[in-house]
Amino acid sequence: MPAANAEEFLARLDLAGMEEVSDIEVADHLYYFQDTDGQASLEEILLLSMEWEVSGQKLDSSDSDWHKVENNPPNFGYSSSVYWFYLPLLNAAHYGSEWVVEVAYPVLDFVDLYVVRNGDVQSFYKLGDKQPFSNRVFDHRNFRIPVSMQPLDQVGIYIRVKTSSAVQVPISLWTYGGLMKYDQIDHLIIGLYFGLLLVMALYNGMIYLTVRQKSNLYYVLYVVSYGCFQAALMGIAYQYVWPSSIHWNDQSILFCLALSLMFGTLFIRSYLNLNALSPKMDWLYGVATWVGGVFICLSFILTYDIMIRLIVSFSIVICLGAMAGGVYLWRSIGRSIQYFTLAWLFLFAGGFILAMNKFGVLPRNLFTENASLYGSAIQIILLSMALVEQLTVERKKRFAAQQRAIVQERLAREAQEHALTLQRLDNERLELRVQERTVELETLNERLKELTIKDSLTGLYNRRYLDIKAEEEHKRAQRDRNPLGVLLMDLDNFKLINDQYGHQFGDECLIAVAKALGDNVQRTSDTVARYGGEEFVAILPGASKEKARYLAEMIRLSVMSLSIDYEGQKVPLSVSIGLVSTVPKEAGRYEELIKAADDALYQAKSEGRNRVLSAE
Ligand code: GH3
Ligand code: MG
Ligand code: MG
Repeated sequence: MPAANAEEFLARLDLAGMEEVSDIEVADHLYYFQDTDGQASLEEILLLSMEWEVSGQKLDSSDSDWHKVENNPPNFGYSSSVYWFYLPLLNAAHYGSEWVVEVAYPVLDFVDLYVVRNGDVQSFYKLGDKQPFSNRVFDHRNFRIPVSMQPLDQVGIYIRVKTSSAVQVPISLWTYGGLMKYDQIDHLIIGLYFGLLLVMALYNGMIYLTVRQKSNLYYVLYVVSYGCFQAALMGIAYQYVWPSSIHWNDQSILFCLALSLMFGTLFIRSYLNLNALSPKMDWLYGVATWVGGVFICLSFILTYDIMIRLIVSFSIVICLGAMAGGVYLWRSIGRSIQYFTLAWLFLFAGGFILAMNKFGVLPRNLFTENASLYGSAIQIILLSMALVEQLTVERKKRFAAQQRAIVQERLAREAQEHALTLQRLDNERLELRVQERTVELETLNERLKELTIKDSLTGLYNRRYLDIKAEEEHKRAQRDRNPLGVLLMDLDNFKLINDQYGHQFGDECLIAVAKALGDNVQRTSDTVARYGGEEFVAILPGASKEKARYLAEMIRLSVMSLSIDYEGQKVPLSVSIGLVSTVPKEAGRYEELIKAADDALYQAKSEGRNRVLSAE
């Protein structure tokens, strides 16, 4: 301990006129005594301080004496010593006043408070979180006792602290008014903090139920377990949830912190998809989750001071690891990873500021005292934003993929339709060609048929067709017992015409005669054919001899009246016709009729030509 200076004389805190001061600084009047073996009794402590005060001497620099606290809150780290604190108060006013002394670190195990007046203990309070909550004078998470100052009064506040947590003893002195004012803001902050946690847990829980994304579930579990840790640490859980579970109260801080470590690592793994990113990191975080589990088990065996240091150190490593991962992926993933990284940074920063406050580097105020709450609140908001952002990005990706699939499907369908159209057109074209070919074939067939049954020069039926047709008609006439008329016609002296005017002219004559025959024989049942050379045959079903003769005469006259021109000269034509009309005999043959007609024709020729002669 550094030696003397003026302030190291005992200095009582004069409360006269301080009633309106909201933030009374007690550090200048606060002294401590370290009792390493924890054996010192209250009497010894009182004696020590009284001797000192009466002697009016400076503080001794030896260890077995009072020392002035260096900064408020006094922080001695983890220690097995008992620490005594002494706050000497004075009321120089001629009126009394009421005060509250507060020790604002709810995890301290044993906090004994003595109010001493003139060497006598006026009040004694046995507080600390190893005492049931019902011991408290004020129903509050911090340790608070009332102090009543008489006019011109001197009171000493002695506080004995023994704890397995860090020996941090933030001591404050309040008026009731000041305390009420402070509590309002304090409760508002706490309410906001736990309200935020609750809303975030519910909101992400809903999202998990809808989307079934594991990172949302781990987030919820992390938020809940971390919230429980804070509630235990702040003494709120002890005040409201388990006021009589002394043992569990200490345990709960370790338990919830280790649990939040487990869920935190699970969340980080799942959110960063470490498995795909780096199997090694994934493995490490998997191990970290198990370490969290081991911590939970160990917390039932090892002491609080060892365990809390173990878990906090490990959590810092995990937190830094998450930040490092976030920085590594900062550019590659997008905004969600930036939220994620900042989230851990804020949690870390909050804890860091609180630690700096506890070690006296940063001043003690509402901001530094609650820094870890603010940091954790911002972390939880940012993590939720990171989750939402990740979800949005994934949904956008899925939507884009769906759109692509739809477009591809449409293209495929269009291609298919196009192919079908082409095929249909092909089919139609093919059909058209088939039709064309069919028509062509039909025409060709027609032509072929004509070629086979017609005479090419005159256009009349030919001999082949006539034979078939005549046979048919002959049979029908036999069957129906109808007469059948046959005319056999031969142009007269045609050889001469050919010789005289040429074969070409002879053909013209044949064509003209054929036309004349066609004009005369018009009944559909009648048939006229070229029989060969300049001979023609007409088959007249149902024609009686008279009718046949009449028609033959008409033909003969028609042929006679043909005037065919050869170089301005009229060439006369005539025809001889042999005629037969009879109901064919049952056993008779068509050739017999032709023979009879031919006989008649021969007769006509021999009788001078250009005449019609009928067979008997
Ligand atoms: P007739 O009065 O006795 O019948 O005397 P004709 O000269 O007609 O004697 P015939 O019947 O024997 O002669 C037929 C002639 O008809 C022979 C040939 O010169 C001619 N002829 C036969 N077929 C054709 C033909 O297709 N074209 C032409 N231009 N003349 C033909
Ligand atoms: Mg002839
Ligand atoms: Mg002839």
